[in-house]
Amino acid sequence: MAPALAAGVLEERRGSPLRELIPSTMGEPLLWPALPDLLARAAALGLRGNVTTNGTFPGRGAAGWAEVLVPACRDVKISWNGATPATAAAVMPGLDLDAAVEGVRVLVAARDRHAAGGGARCSVSFQVTAREDNVAELPGIVRLAARLGVDRVKLNQLQVRSPDLAPLSLRRSPEAIARWNAAARAVRAAAAEALARSGRAPALENAVELAPDPAAPAPRGPCPFAGREAWVHPDGRLAPCPHPAAATGALGEFGSVADAPLGALWAAPAFRAFVAPGPGGHPVHPLCDRCAFRGPGGA
Ligand code: SF4
Repeated sequence: MAPALAAGVLEERRGSPLRELIPSTMGEPLLWPALPDLLARAAALGLRGNVTTNGTFPGRGAAGWAEVLVPACRDVKISWNGATPATAAAVMPGLDLDAAVEGVRVLVAARDRHAAGGGARCSVSFQVTAREDNVAELPGIVRLAARLGVDRVKLNQLQVRSPDLAPLSLRRSPEAIARWNAAARAVRAAAAEALARSGRAPALENAVELAPDPAAPAPRGPCPFAGREAWVHPDGRLAPCPHPAAATGALGEFGSVADAPLGALWAAPAFRAFVAPGPGGHPVHPLCDRCAFRGPGGA
């Protein structure tokens, strides 16, 4: 996204109910040169950042990025895929797990220094995509998070966005679901052990069992995004959510902040009509009926 476009949206939203800035969940946001300036602009407007990074801390290193992120963010999520070097590198090719662990240590220490100095606390989270090739290491990831002082472990189910990912989904068969359900129980046990041993444990998100039969899933919940978040694509187009279909316009066309203020697009009849929840608590659209973002482990 052109930095001026992003900065213009922030400025236009000055004084609005906007509370948080989530810069890019597609790609590595720390590679975007304008990120430090955008976070500083957001902080000046009273907005806090919510950043998800792959934890490689490019350019500035962990200490340099901690100086940028910790004072400006409510939460920094690090994508975490394994408890062993082999699994971590298999899911994210080239990743050096030891270096990633050291980066988390640096970030957590900066978090604690900032909070001790009276600054607003920035939580540090692991964001884990549960899949066939790391399901056995999910409890180990929670134990590692506990040792490192990570605040939260957020577990997401793999979103099958291309056919090659289908064999890795833990929702694809009763056997795969059983592996996930056992892992979810083990994850909760790992957190409980850490709490009993050290008095602290990461909060868990989405560590819940799925219905055993993929053909009879539990009813999905409401949409976590529509009407709450404004997703602005790099070219300026507004979308109601991060669903891949939204990027293609399959959920509708809601205008662009390159042509109109975000506040006007948000209030426009087309957007209001789309985000109005139907009986299931989600927009009335065929893609929303079967959307995997609704329900445990979806987002
Ligand atoms: S239900 Fe899914 S597709 Fe529909 S708006 Fe929500 S996240 Fe997007």
